[in-house]
Amino acid sequence: MVGAAFRKQPADVPTPKERPSEFFGKYVFNKQKMKKYLPREAYKKMLDVIDNGTPLDRATADIVADGMKKWAMSLGVTHCTHWFQPLTDTTAEKHDAFLEYDGKGGMIEDFAGKSLVQQEPDASSFPSGGIRSTFEARGYSAWDPTSPVFVIGDTLMIPTVFISYTGEALDYKTPLLKALRAVNEAATDVAQYFYPNVKKVISNLGWEQEYFLIDEGLYSARPDLLLTGRTLMGHSSAKDQQMDDHYFGSIPERVAAFMKHLEIEALELGIPCKTRHNEVAPNQFELAPIFEETNLAVDHNMLLMSLMKRVARKHGFRCLLHEKPFDGVNGSGKHNNWSLSTDTGILLHAPGKDNLSNLRFVTFVVETLMGVYRHNGLLKASIMSATNAHRLGGNEAPPAIVSSFLGRQLTQVLDHLENTTDDTIAIRGKSGLRLDIPSVPELLIDNTDRNRTSPFAFTGNRFEFRAPGSEANCASAMIALNAAVAEALVDFKKRVDALIAQGKNKHSAIISVLRDDIKTCKPIRFDGNGYSEEWVEEAARRGLDVETSCPLIFDRYLDEASIKMFESLHVMSRKELEARNEIKWETYTKKIQIEARIFGDLSINHIIPQVVGYQTKLAENVAALKAILPEEQFKTVAASNLALISEIAERVKTIEEGCQALTDARKVANKITSAREMAIAYHDTVEPLMEQIRYHIDKLEAKVDDEVWTLPKYREMLFIR
Ligand code: ADP
Ligand code: MG
Repeated sequence: MVGAAFRKQPADVPTPKERPSEFFGKYVFNKQKMKKYLPREAYKKMLDVIDNGTPLDRATADIVADGMKKWAMSLGVTHCTHWFQPLTDTTAEKHDAFLEYDGKGGMIEDFAGKSLVQQEPDASSFPSGGIRSTFEARGYSAWDPTSPVFVIGDTLMIPTVFISYTGEALDYKTPLLKALRAVNEAATDVAQYFYPNVKKVISNLGWEQEYFLIDEGLYSARPDLLLTGRTLMGHSSAKDQQMDDHYFGSIPERVAAFMKHLEIEALELGIPCKTRHNEVAPNQFELAPIFEETNLAVDHNMLLMSLMKRVARKHGFRCLLHEKPFDGVNGSGKHNNWSLSTDTGILLHAPGKDNLSNLRFVTFVVETLMGVYRHNGLLKASIMSATNAHRLGGNEAPPAIVSSFLGRQLTQVLDHLENTTDDTIAIRGKSGLRLDIPSVPELLIDNTDRNRTSPFAFTGNRFEFRAPGSEANCASAMIALNAAVAEALVDFKKRVDALIAQGKNKHSAIISVLRDDIKTCKPIRFDGNGYSEEWVEEAARRGLDVETSCPLIFDRYLDEASIKMFESLHVMSRKELEARNEIKWETYTKKIQIEARIFGDLSINHIIPQVVGYQTKLAENVAALKAILPEEQFKTVAASNLALISEIAERVKTIEEGCQALTDARKVANKITSAREMAIAYHDTVEPLMEQIRYHIDKLEAKVDDEVWTLPKYREMLFIR
């Protein structure tokens, strides 16, 4: 390897004088700051906006902006920006100074309500999937007051939605807010069967962010990591994760310093960091906050990801968020723990003896399963990407089939409900107590489930959607999931109300519909080994989506059932869905295209010249031996070098031909005009070639002199910390 310089000592970590509970939210314009910086009336209006979604009037916006400016200037802020989430999986910002002419030849610090509420970034360079022609390049960003404004450095950051001139969403936040509204309305209606006073249902999200840290010096010497976020070649390290000695191990000192630093900055930005630990692969780690309302949780995850990258560099690390930076060891995911709650409690919380809440619990579990069952293909599409495709089905991540694990007790409860026909039949609860249907037995749901192969597992008071990728914007999965559950709840209520109208009492009506639904959605329930070959066949028989090609999985967004769901809930229109799919296919193609190009460069510029140089050295050695040794002795002594010389020759030829084939395959694919077809061509013809060529490169890495190998090796990247 190269003599890349790496930093052995931990860097300094800021040492705040206050306790975390005191500096939490220091840089957030939260309710406390609003109370301090806004006049009473404006403060009350803001609470109404945040808690009840009432629109904000312009006059109040001006007053709020003024309060915000005062607060921000007290922190030395000079600029502001709208902060939004275009369809690039990152965030975007364009800073404007607070400065305005004062009309007397000088300047004043100014920040008006209109700059807070709306901006018009020239949006022509963001992906729009053809929604916006260049002559209508305008995009609008508009403040989302439900996610608080915050300060980074000298800039006031304002979370916003981002829409086109004609009103279509160009971002993740717009459809997310709409999906959250839909699930709130649908779930509130259903929750009122049980608790008539419920006014609002909140969707919660607790994400667990996995990541790798590698030494910055080593990172810089790997052009593939630099440009694609993953290693495109590299022989496995003799030791990697087989000893299971990294997972939950003691955190390396330099990493601990990074984590501490990251947590301080995250807490100051109001991100409620809670858990940190070593993950399974060497140099892999995890951070999880306490769950929050979904929209805020998504913003916080986006913010955290950029923070991680920034803080890592201060510690001489690079933070890798790619789902599969290293072949052969675990990749990184971002489990999305999801639940619904009212202001009085979590709707998915396993209850105790109370019949009504037992029924409420079963209702929300079953209708979640109905949504996931009906849209299992779409949910997979919502988490699919060129990068996450490397992780799914690997030995650590769920397979590319969405199914749900419920655990033994919940399974028994559903089976029992399904198999009884008489509403008055008595069943045995765990305590041996006889309880009458329509109540449900006393539930003691054990959440010790650790079926890691399940993509959508029930874990006590929530479902854990484990398929999302580490790099992704959680909004994508959350839009699909919340919309699917909203649709199921709307449909559930329709059928229950119809039965009630026919004279059934409420409880029997609910039980009767649940019984049907338990039968209908049964194919989604799977408690077995998700990695087995048999499961793929079984899942296909059950009618679940078993497609593994990323570009084809995207098709699920354009199924009539998906379009109908999104349109009926007013989350996205057909036009928006079509445009988004264009972007998905284009992004897929570009990612593979970049990988193929850098792969060719590395093969031709790094691997072959060095390997051929080494081969020459071997040949010189053979010639020298031949000159000094008797013929018989020469034959035995030089045999291994001669074999290596020809192995190198053959592998180099295969690599050269492979790289030519790779270029040719790209040229053919690039001529295709349809974005979908082009992505399919990249998937079917370009990507597999890289895998084939890589095999030979990795073999060579193990054969040639370490001195001549210019790329840092797996054992270095995974173990230097
Ligand atoms: P695990 O044991 O699955 O690794 P972690 O402690 O790493 O669990 O993360 C669990 C995440 O789930 C945390 O973010 C936690 O706040 C979140 N969580 C807990 N209860 C709920 C809930 N009811 N709804 C949503 N998220 C939840
Ligand atoms: Mg977890």
